[in-house]
Amino acid sequence: MSYSNDMFGSMVFNDQVMHERLPKDIYKSLKQTILKGKDIDIAVANVVANAMKDWAIERGATHYTHWFQPMTGITAEKHDSFISPQPDGSVIMEFSGKELIKGEPDASSFPSGGLRATFEARGYTAWDPTSYAFLKDGTLYIPTAFCSYGGEVLDKKTPLLRSMEALSNQALRVLKLFGATNVDNVNSTVGAEQEYFLIDKKSYDERKDIIFTGRTLFGAKSPKGQELEDHYFGTIKPRVAAFMKELDEELWKLGIPAKTKHNEVAPAQHELAPIFETTNLATDHNQLTMEFMKKVALRHGMVCLLHEKPFAGVNGSGKHNNWSLATNKGVNLLEPGTSPHENAQFILFLCAVIKAVDEYQDLLRISVASAGNDHRLGANEAPPAIVSMFLGTELTEILDAIEKGISYGNKSSEFMKIGVHVLPHIPKDTTDRNRTSPFAFTGNKFEFRMVGSTFSIAGPNIILNTIVAESLSYFADKLENADNFTELLNSLIKETIKKHKRIIFNGNNYSDEWVKEAEKRGLSNLRTTAQALPLFTSQKYVDLFEKHNVFTKAEVESRCEILCESYCKTIHIEALTMLDMTKKDIFPAVCEYIKSLTETALAKKSLCDDGITTEAEIALIKKLSNLSKCLVDKTDLLDKAVLGTYEIDDIIEKMNYYHDTVFTSMQELRAIADELEINASSKYWPFPTYGDLLFNV
Ligand code: ADP
Ligand code: MG
Repeated sequence: MSYSNDMFGSMVFNDQVMHERLPKDIYKSLKQTILKGKDIDIAVANVVANAMKDWAIERGATHYTHWFQPMTGITAEKHDSFISPQPDGSVIMEFSGKELIKGEPDASSFPSGGLRATFEARGYTAWDPTSYAFLKDGTLYIPTAFCSYGGEVLDKKTPLLRSMEALSNQALRVLKLFGATNVDNVNSTVGAEQEYFLIDKKSYDERKDIIFTGRTLFGAKSPKGQELEDHYFGTIKPRVAAFMKELDEELWKLGIPAKTKHNEVAPAQHELAPIFETTNLATDHNQLTMEFMKKVALRHGMVCLLHEKPFAGVNGSGKHNNWSLATNKGVNLLEPGTSPHENAQFILFLCAVIKAVDEYQDLLRISVASAGNDHRLGANEAPPAIVSMFLGTELTEILDAIEKGISYGNKSSEFMKIGVHVLPHIPKDTTDRNRTSPFAFTGNKFEFRMVGSTFSIAGPNIILNTIVAESLSYFADKLENADNFTELLNSLIKETIKKHKRIIFNGNNYSDEWVKEAEKRGLSNLRTTAQALPLFTSQKYVDLFEKHNVFTKAEVESRCEILCESYCKTIHIEALTMLDMTKKDIFPAVCEYIKSLTETALAKKSLCDDGITTEAEIALIKKLSNLSKCLVDKTDLLDKAVLGTYEIDDIIEKMNYYHDTVFTSMQELRAIADELEINASSKYWPFPTYGDLLFNV
């Protein structure tokens, strides 16, 4: 076996290991749990737990942890050792089925959005057997869901699993109508392309803004940015290449199928794309990928920045969420077919996505809303805050022909009739790819490009799965009672295209014309998080989530509250960091520089009779003095703006205030500070510049 073959999955208690290590009947029973969601028997769990422990200990493990994904968006863990003391004073290594299935972390400090009072602090974690346990740093990691004792969901995994189940149920209903009775379940599949920046650790250590907030709050543009377009797909520098190699190896050991790596558009920006997996695994694996990016970067004297907008003036980072539907037989339901029958099924699934995205465009927007992502969406950077879909010219023309009942191209004189005629060959979109679209069909999958680089992909995929489940449920309700299946199918598809085609846009999403056109079409444009998030609790969405058993009303409300709070807290921390840097570092540095200029001017004064002038020094002193007066004024304004936040109780009002007042004051303060940076000597400037940060690796 080759190097990477041996390595791949070597730290994972995967199917192969289970097959080797578990008695046949236990293995079979566990597979039933994994594939069909059957409850696990405690006797089975005991055997599995013991096998896991032996496997882990052989590889040097001493602890286990229930690994979960609270609503902070990152992962959480608490380690327990396998040690169990014996009466004779010795210890043995033990791990029971009970410990595998259920854990009870003291979880009172995780955000619950009011779902769980702190006095009943205990939540519990429950094993998710569909995601393999793995070994990391001497600990056995068991992927788990996290709930309160009242049964309310406190994490991101549980609703994701629920949304996958809803989608599977509804897709199965539709598939049955097309005669597919051999399919047991339908999974959504995801490949999440991850963008990130790498900067030198020494420069990072000198930037409080990046340390506290993940992004630069000050910084004049460097003379060179991304204008030469010389970084995208450029040669990877040795230090970065060494990082990428080690990262790949770490990920492969954990069974994470890291596949593609390259330089991105902005200087110091890179991307990693994995091979797609079931959404649940893709989510766990993306969390681990982000964790290892940070960890491995440090080993190479660098820091990995996952923030959506670490630097003004160059591209920010996103996460392209490639999404499709696959049956357990491995058939991709968004792959255009070759027979009339397959075509009809494909078009119906496609229409389900079109209908879903149009009807729930706001929900998709909400699923990617955060203070960090506001710097990309709706801020003249890819993609805009308006949700629309790209289908490519051919597919759009085909849908148009179906809607109007006319022939497509000149290829046939017959009307297009779904389920009867062979559709024209639908070419895989490779050439006319639209990089500006927030939601693009790319041949056999959709690419949702609005997701921010720091996000857990659980949130956006919960929404995607649920809204498509809803469309499919609508279609199934109608078609299950059809007298003439083909007739009804045709009219349903026509009706869907007619009603929802406004969401399809193949043009340039960055243009001003599109903003106007979208408004004419009645598409929404929620430019900021403050506008988007409060809509999350609308009755329409609560009904949707409750119907598909994804969230209860209380769960939606708690999630919304957490997200709104987090938006305010993020900007609050940024504002305080700016005030700190201005007062403690920038202003004193400018004073020092002015002092040195003044001393120079004074020293030169005695030489004035010899025709030597101090005009340059004085002009610069004047300029810097004026700017520093402005700096002090803007600092006062920001100080007052921050104080104002304490007077507001209503969360929506608060969010708007943070956006309109605090954030605006921050921008004004930054403009002055950056102007000072441009005019100050680098000897006195207290932080590494954009040039240092972006070009030093
Ligand atoms: P590109 O976007 O450069 O054309 P690919 O289309 O090969 O590259 O893949 C982009 C991402 O989409 C990869 O992470 C890939 O695994 C993922 N992907 C490919 N097919 C599917 C699918 N059926 N479902 C979900 N993700 C997919
Ligand atoms: Mg792509």
